[in-house]
Amino acid sequence: MSELAYKRTNVYEIADEKLMKEIFDYAEGYKVFLDEGKTEREACAWAKAQAVKNGYKPYKFGQKLNKGDKVYYDNRGKNLYLIKVGNADVAEDGVRIIASHIDSPRIDLKQVPLYESDGIAFAKTHYYGGLRKYQWTTVPLALHGAVALKNGTVLNVKIGEDENDPVFYISDLLPHLAQKQNAKTLGEAIEGEGLNIWLGNIPYTAAENEKDKTVKENLLKILHEKYGMEEADFLSAELSLVPAFKAKDIGFDRALIGAYGHDDRVCSYPAFTALFDTPTDEHTVMVVLADKEEIGSEGTTGMQCAIFTDLIDAIATSFNVTSAAVRANSKCLSADVNAAYDPNYAEVLEKLNATYLSHGAGVTKFTGARGKSGSSDADAEYVGFLRKLFDDNGVIWQTGELGKVDVGGGGTVAKYIAKMNIDTIDIGVGVVSMHAPYEVISKADLYEEYLAFRAFLK
Ligand code: MN
Ligand code: MN
Repeated sequence: MSELAYKRTNVYEIADEKLMKEIFDYAEGYKVFLDEGKTEREACAWAKAQAVKNGYKPYKFGQKLNKGDKVYYDNRGKNLYLIKVGNADVAEDGVRIIASHIDSPRIDLKQVPLYESDGIAFAKTHYYGGLRKYQWTTVPLALHGAVALKNGTVLNVKIGEDENDPVFYISDLLPHLAQKQNAKTLGEAIEGEGLNIWLGNIPYTAAENEKDKTVKENLLKILHEKYGMEEADFLSAELSLVPAFKAKDIGFDRALIGAYGHDDRVCSYPAFTALFDTPTDEHTVMVVLADKEEIGSEGTTGMQCAIFTDLIDAIATSFNVTSAAVRANSKCLSADVNAAYDPNYAEVLEKLNATYLSHGAGVTKFTGARGKSGSSDADAEYVGFLRKLFDDNGVIWQTGELGKVDVGGGGTVAKYIAKMNIDTIDIGVGVVSMHAPYEVISKADLYEEYLAFRAFLK
């Protein structure tokens, strides 16, 4: 191929011994984050603890920010903002923003979840985010979340991650009796109301009343003894079932990582580690770990919440400049995953414009579906700026769309930030089996994403 032609670079093809070591070492820290931060609450707490270690102090609205300040804003324990104030004039230089999300598809308990059916205790659920329901049956599930008790205390729950913990379960039919189910489409085979969690099977035989000798009663006794809970406490709880698997290397050569929730921890981890590792003093930078992306970035902890612009306003006010000027000169990387090319399902991706595993950070100019609908479509000029920045800093990157035209599509937080008059583009890591209980990414892409963020913040 001539010098004039565009060609993707396979990171593993060109990596020397030093780069290979960096890629593999960096992945070890990421795997710890994956295992310890499976929900937005846990990921937020984990990143916050790292921020504190790196000298970040809590920010309160009304507080004046000064050059050199490193602050964090913990929004309800589910959404974290990290801000480092640089030397440049924020009205001229704006803010360098990296926004990723820390919520992932999962199965949430309903508010009145407990019931018993023919001697088995179950919990009713409502799934969170876009998931293929059949994938979530017959896998070990762990229960994570928080219960707000009436006495004002909040009980943090994490059951199923410890080697000795029990796990939870959603059943499916045995092949011998699945003839009718097999004839249904994948989308219809498992119903939303069929995702019932197995909780127990031992009746409370010690009960005085015959009618209390139930499995559910036994369960209530256990919950009360172990956690001080009563059934009504589920009313004010956020409890989620997530896969109980740990992150593991995939394949003989260990090039890939399998884990729950790469989407979008594979961008969140590089975002905050790049911030901590990059000695920036020029730009003012902001790293956002958002919640609720998987259900439309809604609510107080989603990217559509006013808190984002409130914090930009706070930066502007601190230096007596307008928020409009700061936003007009800001630049944002909307850090979210893309679909990685999978030779087993090549028909849904268009080969020239797919994101390939181990070919570096994937820049996505536009998302959307059916004629780019719902996409913010970044300017060519902004892509040009990043292209030069990444190439000058030796970052290996590629461009990729989410699937063939009219096959499907997706969205990210990009459009909500772009709406604030901030240049924004999606950049992320290619994921195989996105939104499945166990997703796969390349260690090389994870590391190149980190290098891309370092170049952006520098
Ligand atoms: Mn995502
Ligand atoms: Mn997603």
